[in-house]
Amino acid sequence: MVALAVSLAAVAYLVLRNRRAREAVHALRSSEARFRSLVQLSSDVTLIVGTDGVIQYASPAARHTFGRRASTLEGVKLLSLVHPDDVGQTARFLGSLSAGQGRTVSEWRVRGSTGMWQWTENTTVDLSNEPAVGGVVINVRDISERRSLETRLTHQAFHDSLTRLANRSLFLNRVSHAVARAPRSQRPSAVLFLDLDDFKKVNDSLGHGVGDELLIAGAGRLSTCVRPGDTIARLGGDEFAVLLEDLEDMGHAVQIAERISTALRTPFRMQGRDVFIGVSIGIAAVLAGDSPEEVLRNADLAMYFAKGTDKGRWAIYAPEMHEQVLDRLELEADLRSAVDAGDIRVEYQPIVHLETGNIYGAEALVRWHHASRGQVSPSRFVGVAEETGLIVPIGRHVLHEACHRAREWRMRRKGARQLRMSVNLSGRHFQEDSLIADVQEALRDSGLEPKALTLEITESILMQRSDATLAKLRALKALGLHLAIDDFGTGYSSLGYLQQFPIDMLKIDRTFVDPVATPGSDPVLARAIIALGKTLHIETVAEGIERPEQREGLRAMGCTLGQGYLFARPMAADDLAASLIEPSRVPSVVEMYAPERPPLIPGALLQPDFQG
Ligand code: C2E
Ligand code: MG
Ligand code: MG
Repeated sequence: MVALAVSLAAVAYLVLRNRRAREAVHALRSSEARFRSLVQLSSDVTLIVGTDGVIQYASPAARHTFGRRASTLEGVKLLSLVHPDDVGQTARFLGSLSAGQGRTVSEWRVRGSTGMWQWTENTTVDLSNEPAVGGVVINVRDISERRSLETRLTHQAFHDSLTRLANRSLFLNRVSHAVARAPRSQRPSAVLFLDLDDFKKVNDSLGHGVGDELLIAGAGRLSTCVRPGDTIARLGGDEFAVLLEDLEDMGHAVQIAERISTALRTPFRMQGRDVFIGVSIGIAAVLAGDSPEEVLRNADLAMYFAKGTDKGRWAIYAPEMHEQVLDRLELEADLRSAVDAGDIRVEYQPIVHLETGNIYGAEALVRWHHASRGQVSPSRFVGVAEETGLIVPIGRHVLHEACHRAREWRMRRKGARQLRMSVNLSGRHFQEDSLIADVQEALRDSGLEPKALTLEITESILMQRSDATLAKLRALKALGLHLAIDDFGTGYSSLGYLQQFPIDMLKIDRTFVDPVATPGSDPVLARAIIALGKTLHIETVAEGIERPEQREGLRAMGCTLGQGYLFARPMAADDLAASLIEPSRVPSVVEMYAPERPPLIPGALLQPDFQG
């Protein structure tokens, strides 16, 4: 009985043990299946790499991720799949793995089946001491998309999206490297700061699309002017900068600046027309101890000088420039107050018939008397006024003033019934939408007949041969006034515009008048301009006549009108008015030069013999 009970207990124990064992095996199997399917279905690739660096196992995801069957990876050395640039780092990474260190992550590129490199993120556990594994387990994830986005974002952060040039951040970074190298380097480095002249006009007249195209084309030309290692950046708008390293000397930087200037001056063909732009360039040396911002600021300052003195040129930074800029800023502030306070006055210089000496008209010239600086020459402040836009209110003021005077003289002075008034129109005012209305208002306000008004424009206005320019000139002409080109011949422009634009008068610049009747010089250009005027039926006025022989010479060449110190200097309105009735008060210099001739201005002014 007892024996039976014992054997029953033994059977029960064995049955129980077997069941437990079966259950344990079952649990193990299902856990293994679960892990296998996790590994097999995972979108990440699992690799087991032996201590010899050979792949022992690759999960099926290899097909999807790298376009390779898993079996083709097994038996292959892992490093043979890694990008040559990443091999060193990968080998070091794998070598440094030691059991128990936990998971570590590294990124490297792996060659896919198409030969393209794919960025991978690799999470690694060293299980080489685990008998069931015996290697390093690597979980490989394809991160190419993330990396490419990162690269694009980084590129975007350091490049200008329009021109693909470096941007300010990258440029400053490169300059800081150049500054750091400066103490050890035998060869100088320099920064060029470039600003396109009149780019705004292109944008305004031809639209932003053309403006953008022009910037791209300009950037392309820029890159042809520098050496491969140089950095070109677009700083924003129409401003560019170039870092020139390893120069022979600073003269070398000037040569490159000249090259850039020439390249950008060649007209750009845009939408079937030639677009002209210029560039002003500031040059600053990269010196040890400077901050990159300082170098750029110095070059910017020099550019400002280049633009101020003579558009389209270059200037090298000098420390005195800071002081001059302060002076200019002060001038600007004072000019602003002078405009507000109505301290801007107008003087008038007679324009005479060369043949008879009779007055033909007068040119209104702006004057500014500064409390401490005294009389400031227009050549000094008109540029400042243009840049600040103050020239627009100044221009309006001169226009009103001149129209009122002309109307008064034509009405009241016997000798001035047909007097014509010339007013200088700045390029900046020409661009204003209000221009036509401003002129109309001055005419209406003063009651001056439009045909008595001549607007003097510069060649630079005509250089943009756009439809907008032509339309504006036509609109001005439609008011009934006359148009003259001032300082004719100094604008470096082709003369094709003369036929295209409705021009009535050419004012021959003083530089061409100077050689007239001057021993040893031949006034070829003055002669050619007068001949051109005759052919096109455009009146010519010689500017800056100072000597009687010049007047004679010009008259002999067929020039009909003239202006200059020989006849009279610019004078206050009242003085000119007085001369129209009281000849003796005219401050003419004629008698000094030609005592035997009847004085040109005084007697002549009274004679009402003009053509309207
Ligand atoms: P511009 O229009 O060509 O004016 C002629 C300039 O030559 C005047 O200088 C005049 O005083 C000077 N001039 C006249 N005869 C002689 C001469 O025989 N010899 C010499 N050496 N010079 C002579 P100013 O008044 O200093 O004006 C200089 C320039 O400033 C003007 O040249 C014009 O471009 C600009 N400007 C003057 N007034 C205005 C204005 O109201 N508006 C605008 N936008 N510009 C003006
Ligand atoms: Mg003028
Ligand atoms: Mg002139």
